[in-house]
Amino acid sequence: TLLLEITDLAVEVNGKEILKDIDLYIDKGETHVLLGPNGSGKSTLFMSLLGFPKYNITRGEILFKDQDITHMTTTERIELGLGVSFQNPPAIRGVKLKDLLNIETSKKGKSPMGQELSPETLALADKLKLNDQFLERDVNLGFSGGEVKRSEILQLLAQQPDFIMFDEPDSGVDIENVELLAEEINVLLDKDKKPGLREKSGLLITHLGYILNFVGANTAHVLMDGKIACSGDPNEILEDIRKEGFKGCVECCKIQ
Ligand code: ADP
Ligand code: MG
Ligand code: MG
Repeated sequence: TLLLEITDLAVEVNGKEILKDIDLYIDKGETHVLLGPNGSGKSTLFMSLLGFPKYNITRGEILFKDQDITHMTTTERIELGLGVSFQNPPAIRGVKLKDLLNIETSKKGKSPMGQELSPETLALADKLKLNDQFLERDVNLGFSGGEVKRSEILQLLAQQPDFIMFDEPDSGVDIENVELLAEEINVLLDKDKKPGLREKSGLLITHLGYILNFVGANTAHVLMDGKIACSGDPNEILEDIRKEGFKGCVECCKIQ
């Protein structure tokens, strides 16, 4: 069953067309990868699916769980089960990470609002090497690149969305922590379950694909100049990119 259906999408930012002719279909239980050079429009697609008003959808439609979300607000999309991990999330002065986690878990009925964090949430934080003192800090304020990413993953684990978009979760993260992040991304996307039993789906944006050594993906798409230039098996596409660069990989797609 299709979870996300993007048909003929075109998006403008500040009056300039950044994305066009985007068709992308993601089944329940599947993880897709979005690759592409810098400036090809990966983050623009992410922001458009999130529904930020600056990203003006000029054509096409987005269906999520059979509902037309093309013109829904960001809040409505999140309530419907969309989760995100930003490339560069903003700092939130005056809001502790602990408070944010509390809101996310209480929404899911896991703990009443205002209570201490549940033992499960604390255990997850510990696993991500984020200690109790860290949870008392203002969200993302002065966090290192790796701490920002791990705290994003922790929030998603508390929130349990059905479809998650990750914008370059491996950028700015130390190599030894990429594997740790990948492990939790696999949990978030049901990769610890057998393929037929997976409920969660994802779109993983990555520039270089290093994280794909650790996170399994069903299909990869290459974005070039705001269009999907090629789609196919993630390993084959990565190999083509490594050998021939992004342009060469697109040529390989055309030959097939
Ligand atoms: P990627 O994430 O693949 O590196 P982006 O989606 O960030 O690419 O950018 C795609 C294109 O959109 C680039 O040419 C970029 O300059 C342009 N762009 C991004 N943000 C804006 C903006 N706020 N105003 C105008 N153009 C933008
Ligand atoms: Mg999945
Ligand atoms: Mg980007």
